[in-house]
Amino acid sequence: MSATSTCQDCIDLLLDYVDGELPADTKAKLDEHFHGCQPCEDFLATYQATSTLCRRSLAKKMPDSVAAKLHDFLRHEISKDRDGER
Ligand SMILES: [Zn+2]
Repeated sequence: MSATSTCQDCIDLLLDYVDGELPADTKAKLDEHFHGCQPCEDFLATYQATSTLCRRSLAKKMPDSVAAKLHDFLRHEISKDRDGER
């Protein structure tokens, strides 16, 4: 087990991961962690599906300001989960 990537770190980076905004080495670390961590894998799969669906259905009609709010909201929800449960 590597001590460099914890579930918390991964969840912090998840939004950027899904957005494809992470540097390759960071992404590789997350890939490695997700591969061996079922809860994170499930979370990622759920988030990715949601994100893709949102983008597909809303990309054309969602103003940037709304997209930014949704992004903030998801980030907030994720950090709530993270703080409430270890
Ligand atoms: Zn994990």
